[in-house]
Amino acid sequence: MARSLGRLAAIPVTELKGVGTAKASSLEQVGIHTVLDLLTTYPRRYVDRTREARIADLVEGDEAMVVVRVTRSSSRRTRNRKVMVTADVTDGERTLRATFFNQPWRERQLSPGTQAILFGRFERYGGRPQMTNPVVDLIGDRTGRIIPVYPQSEKAGLMSWDLARWMDEVLERAGEFADPVPPAALDRFGLIGRTAAFRQIHAPESMAEVESARRRLVFDELLRVQLSLVERKQRLESESPGIAHAVDALPMLDRFVVDLPFPLTGAQQRVIEEIRADMGRPRPMHRLLQGDVGAGKTLVAVAMLLVAVEGGHQGALMAPTAVLAEQHAAGVRALLDGVEVDDPGTLLARRPLAVELLTNRTTAAERRKMLARLEAGEVDVLIGTHALIQEGVEFRSLGAVVIDEQHRFGVEQRAALRAANADGTVPDVLVMTATPIPRTAAMTVYGDLDVSVLDEMPPGRTPIRTEWVEVGAEGEVEGQETAAELAMWQHVRDEVADGRQAYVVCPLVEDSEKVEVASAEATYERLQGGELHGLRLGLLHGRVPPADKEQTMEAFRRGELDVLVATTVIEVGVDVPNATVMVVLDADRFGIAQLHQLRGRVGRGAARSHCYLVGSGATPDGRARLEALVRSTDGFELAEIDLDLRGEGTLMGERQKGRNDLKLASLRRDRDWVVKAREVAIDVISADPTLEHHQGLADELPLFLGDDESSEFLLKS
Ligand code: ADP
Ligand code: MG
Repeated sequence: MARSLGRLAAIPVTELKGVGTAKASSLEQVGIHTVLDLLTTYPRRYVDRTREARIADLVEGDEAMVVVRVTRSSSRRTRNRKVMVTADVTDGERTLRATFFNQPWRERQLSPGTQAILFGRFERYGGRPQMTNPVVDLIGDRTGRIIPVYPQSEKAGLMSWDLARWMDEVLERAGEFADPVPPAALDRFGLIGRTAAFRQIHAPESMAEVESARRRLVFDELLRVQLSLVERKQRLESESPGIAHAVDALPMLDRFVVDLPFPLTGAQQRVIEEIRADMGRPRPMHRLLQGDVGAGKTLVAVAMLLVAVEGGHQGALMAPTAVLAEQHAAGVRALLDGVEVDDPGTLLARRPLAVELLTNRTTAAERRKMLARLEAGEVDVLIGTHALIQEGVEFRSLGAVVIDEQHRFGVEQRAALRAANADGTVPDVLVMTATPIPRTAAMTVYGDLDVSVLDEMPPGRTPIRTEWVEVGAEGEVEGQETAAELAMWQHVRDEVADGRQAYVVCPLVEDSEKVEVASAEATYERLQGGELHGLRLGLLHGRVPPADKEQTMEAFRRGELDVLVATTVIEVGVDVPNATVMVVLDADRFGIAQLHQLRGRVGRGAARSHCYLVGSGATPDGRARLEALVRSTDGFELAEIDLDLRGEGTLMGERQKGRNDLKLASLRRDRDWVVKAREVAIDVISADPTLEHHQGLADELPLFLGDDESSEFLLKS
């Protein structure tokens, strides 16, 4: 009978002939416990022996691969105290010397008799054939045209050939694998069967076989992720009763839109329609709204709150910080000014729509009064921090919740906000994020949510000019500012002279707030005494007491300070349209998303704004990040670049703290397959919501997606 992966997961590696107690404990160290773990440990790369060269045929300067045996190795110190290991090797015909600098362990690795594959540039040194610092693969005495190279662990004492040998045994003994993926899906995408896929990934006859095996196994990984997300999404929607808001006629919302001083952007219209349609359905909405800084998310949020209020329910808006909550309250009140709601209890049966703010700064007496009005239904929209979800906050009927995450992916608060109303219904939820993530990544990380995208900026913005002020380049005098830096500070002074304001973001110090604070203070002192002498400077960092912080912010908002020197505390929630210059120091240390957020603090008014990124291009990644920021102001484009640079590990890490299932699949390389896997998952789940007719697939999900991950997803049930 064909083997299921579940059966392989039940067999410990010690069942294999080649694995004794010593090797089992080595495997344990690298997290391989079962035969399934082993089988899904994939080759890091392959050596294609058809491309093997003879030493005799090599010409100086060739990049070549030679398969050799070591005849002698030794190590010594060079004059400048570097360790140099030399190994003489032969391909059976000719010899060659491999020389390694600063890799003392090579002497032990390349002991006489060792079989190895060397990749490197062929050269001659004093007439003798040589390769310097070649890439080395130890393959043992494996034969075959394509040799898989597995991740080795010197520390655990695991060699590539150990894994290859065990893999042979596993494939031999496993025989046929059960294939639970619907054949129609395999046909549709031209995917090979599972048995062939495992054979070809571990023991390919050609690189083309590796490719088709990889495609199939990648699809399986992505399908499992999508199945669990889609299943979860549909289960949540069907389990808890939502509110079917009345959405056919919404005169209050229509009036609100008509009264705006500007027309909605096309994207805002589309997203509001998506939300409106969703809210009309009797199942709870869970929607993610992605939109770059300044795309106009607040308006969308207000529209959603209005839909709820118009139907006689209440709305809540939760922000990550008190400052942000206050800003939202001010913004939402301004937008809703003049809007009235029906209230049969009042004389004219109408009263102004009531918006209240609840944070930890609300006094006990105010809070008590507010909560009483909330329960009586006299507060229509409640805005606040996580204070909104504390004990004792009871809504009369909560219909819509907006969670402004900015760029924080928190999970705790959201779950609590889904607390049901007295009649058991749960509100519709919209999560807003200003950190755009690529579509396929969103499908994977937020696959249990519907996603709306505000991909159009309101008209009339003057694009921000971004300049990279390179420092630390060769030939620069230490401690002396370059011409570009001086010009930058002059520009700050000029803008201030024009009545504008500026931000200076201080170097990021990871893991030490104390050092970061000290460095921010030093920067402040330096600028005050030098480059920005005579201007009115304010300082903000993580250790400034909240009251002082608020005072400084308020002074900056009122224009009583010219320049705000700050750590990244200003990343979130500062909105001062008069600020036109952003200077980020040590910008190469920040991530792309963070720089994009910081830059979004300017360019909020009609005046042209500038962003200066002061940083060194010493590391290729740092350079690439700064160049990307200069080139693009499009958050989605930057998100794609970020994904390319950082890989998906970090991204998945935001939500899936434990291991992740994507061993082979890459959200970058396999973008298209994410979409295909999601389509198949939706087809399967729509026809068979509990997977009872797809038992094979259902059984596989927990093997890969640990319990943690499957339950830690965004909206806890
Ligand atoms: P976000 O929250 O997405 O960063 P906001 O909602 O704060 O963006 O909107 C940024 C600014 O753009 C606000 O001043 C808002 O009034 C304005 N705005 C929003 N929508 C439009 C529109 N359709 N046309 C013109 N201005 C708009
Ligand atoms: Mg906003």
